[in-house]
Formats: sequence, structure tokens, C-alpha cells
Amino acid sequence: MTAYQQPDIDCQLCPRLVEFRRANQEKFPQFYNGPVRPFGPINARLLIVGLAPGLKGANATGRPFTGDYAGDLLYDTLKKFGFAKGTYDKRPDDGLELLDCRITNAVKCVPPENKPTGPEANACRPFLISEFASMENLSAILCLGQVAHQAMLRTFGLKLSSLKFAHGASHKMENGITLFDSYHCSRYNTQTYRLTPEMFENVFADIRAHLDG
Ligand code: URA
Repeated sequence: MTAYQQPDIDCQLCPRLVEFRRANQEKFPQFYNGPVRPFGPINARLLIVGLAPGLKGANATGRPFTGDYAGDLLYDTLKKFGFAKGTYDKRPDDGLELLDCRITNAVKCVPPENKPTGPEANACRPFLISEFASMENLSAILCLGQVAHQAMLRTFGLKLSSLKFAHGASHKMENGITLFDSYHCSRYNTQTYRLTPEMFENVFADIRAHLDG
């Protein structure tokens, strides 16, 4: 197994993201302002992959999806399906515990306008590869949105054309892991009803059936 690798707190790999981090450190000195590390047990069977930290959410609190609008639906749904216990209170010290589930992002630093570039996703991928390689019990990966889906295909060395992103789709890969896709639970997707809580729950029902069936 490869050594578990995560970006330094002042990771310098992406010039645009470093510049944005510096500006945010000045503007919001009380924020975490660094690469956001995964949350949840390393021996989990489920890995959830998001896009990147939100400026005033995960980038402020230092925990994926914590304080982000997207975190409200995500953590609520995780609790419903037994993947989390405790209270989600938008703070990294709220005591919320993830059960058999770990959350990470395709890009660990907050990008301007929530949009990481291709080269930034590429530069960050070694950390994703390392996370994946360190999860010995991994059985399911949930990709939140197309960027996460593509990041995971590249992580597995697969062509992007080999598996198309589609909400609700699942693909069993040669390595035995099943990849599940969902639209991202972002503010835009939920407020436009592209993703409803019911659609999101259906994906988690499939994941539960896969893990426990
Ligand atoms: N916050 C995260 O940590 N990831 C996302 O994809 C969105 C918000």
C-alpha cells in the first residue's frame, strides 16, 4: 500500500488557488483557508467525493461540506441512511460522527467561483489516489457531480469515455468497487429541483442495498 499522502497546509501546487488562498487569508483571517482534509474513518466502505470546498463553508470550517449549503442535504441524508450520527451543526467540533463513510473532494482547496480547472484537478489527483489506495475496505464510491465522476475515472486509470456520468447510475468496476453517480447537492441543483431530496435518497438507498444486500 502507498503511504497516505495529503497536501501540506500551505500546498503550492496550483498557483491560482495559492493566490486565492492568500487573498482569503487577508480578507477572512478567521477562516481555515487551507486544503481541506477528508472526514470520516479510513476503514469505511463508502467514499463520497465532492467537488471542492466552498469559500464560506468547508474553506472556513476546515471540514468537507461543513457550513456549505450543500452540507445540509448531504449530512441530513447521511444520518437518515445510518452513515452519520450526532448533530450536524455546521462546525467541525459539532461532534458529528461518520459511520462506514468518508467524505473528500476532487480538489482540496477552494477555487474562485467554485470552479476548479482541469490542471488543478490533475494536480490534486495524487491525493485522491492515495486516499483511495489507503481505504482497504472500500466497496462503494459516490461521485457528486461530473467533475468528481471524472476525477475518479482518472484515479482508476480509466478513459473518460468509458463510463458516462448519469444521475442514479452505478457501475461495477474491474477492481470490484461500485461507482455511484448523483447530481451534486449544490444550492443551484437543489433550488432548481434538478436534484430533489427524494432523488438523492434514492441514490443512498441503492448504496445501502449494495453494501448490506
Ligand atoms: N463543500 C465541499 O466540501 N465540497 C463540495 O463539493 C461542495 C461544498
